Amino acid sequence: MATSFVDKAKIFIRAGNGGNGAVAFHREKYVAAGGPDGGDGGRGGDIVFQVDDNMSTLMDFRYKRKYVAGNGGNGAGKRCSGKDGETLYIKVPRGTLIRDAETNAIMHDMSTGEDYLACRGGRGGWGNKHFATPTRQVPNFAKPGLPGESHEVFLELKLLADVGLIGFPNVGKSTLLSVVSKAHPKIANYHFTTLFPNLGVVWVDDGVSFVMADIPGIIEGASEGAGLGHDFLRHIDRCRLLVHLVDVSGSEGRDPVEDFDTINNELQQYSPELASRAQIVIGNKTDLLGDDRSNIDRLKEYVESKGFTFLEMSAATHSGTRELIQTVADLLQKVPVIEAFEADYVPPEPVIDTSEDLIIDHEDDFWSLDGPWLQNLVASVNFNDHESLMWFDRILRDAGVFDRLESMGIQDGDTVSIYDITFEYQS
Ligand code: GDP
Ligand code: MG
Repeated sequence: MATSFVDKAKIFIRAGNGGNGAVAFHREKYVAAGGPDGGDGGRGGDIVFQVDDNMSTLMDFRYKRKYVAGNGGNGAGKRCSGKDGETLYIKVPRGTLIRDAETNAIMHDMSTGEDYLACRGGRGGWGNKHFATPTRQVPNFAKPGLPGESHEVFLELKLLADVGLIGFPNVGKSTLLSVVSKAHPKIANYHFTTLFPNLGVVWVDDGVSFVMADIPGIIEGASEGAGLGHDFLRHIDRCRLLVHLVDVSGSEGRDPVEDFDTINNELQQYSPELASRAQIVIGNKTDLLGDDRSNIDRLKEYVESKGFTFLEMSAATHSGTRELIQTVADLLQKVPVIEAFEADYVPPEPVIDTSEDLIIDHEDDFWSLDGPWLQNLVASVNFNDHESLMWFDRILRDAGVFDRLESMGIQDGDTVSIYDITFEYQS
């Protein structure tokens, strides 16, 4: 028996850094000194999440917790650009939520199957080929690459089953799933055999199908975290329909009506919204009933008086399973699809410590700015976004960069170069 169930994981992801630009000069026979031909650094690889429908747990993330994409290669002479870093694809089961580890805000819901770009690789630095002008023919500098984005994220698996099987341990949930689908859950006559929720695709007719999940572990006290219950309850968050199995044979010495109420109370305590979802109630193990139908009749009357549909079944002999499938399929047509979770993560403004060093190099009308904080700043700016540009401008201004340039004699129309950005100075 497995000891724990892995459906949560915290990992660290980091995109690749951009490669450095090269300082190089063209050499040719009979040409004394050629022009600058240092190539650019390659882009750092991205971190991209991808759905893999063959995965059903976050087990893989238990031991490997750090994921780093490839760095961009450095530029070289002869205008050779560095190779772009390799994108790292991280495969997750469908239905995985990616959250910001610090705030727990949702960054993305991996339920649609679309790839999610979580961290962008750093841009490559410019080689010196970019910095030649008629007055400056020997630019002896290039730019370093920018750092890739990194993030600590929290993965949480929320299964995407249409139908969730609920009920006490041993009532026949796994048996039912194995009968109506190709899933092969463990079946045994002891509690908590199913430590992983098993998913099965149930085919109805004419290509109609639905996904059914065997969700173990709803026991008394589960909503307060007793036993395995609480963790598992999370998995039914997305089920549109609950199929509630009750053992009517009394084979475990409990009363079926009490069982039914106990499970529904658990649900209610965990989530009133979940408890209000459509539910079909099944009296299972009818093959063991013999002549005494008092238990099942009492349950049927009770359940129907509360407005639920009640069906009889024997998962062991398959009696009633066909009818259950049809009833589920019909009901699924009527209950609403549960939307994907909306992302609510707002990236904070990066903290840029402008008290760190800033080096200003200056050659005629060309000004080159360097420094670790500047590098972080440039890596964080999205140049296609006006707000982001305004922020960039404000930080430079507040840090006194423009004042310093003025005092060093910068003129309107001079060129300012900051990593892979160059712009014309306007006071
Ligand atoms: P789960 O814990 O709800 O998943 O229950 P299982 O499917 O593992 O079943 C528990 C035990 O009940 C197993 O020994 C099954 O063979 C048995 N069982 C399940 N359904 C029936 C049924 O309809 N009739 C009989 N006689 N036994 C059943
Ligand atoms: Mg089971």
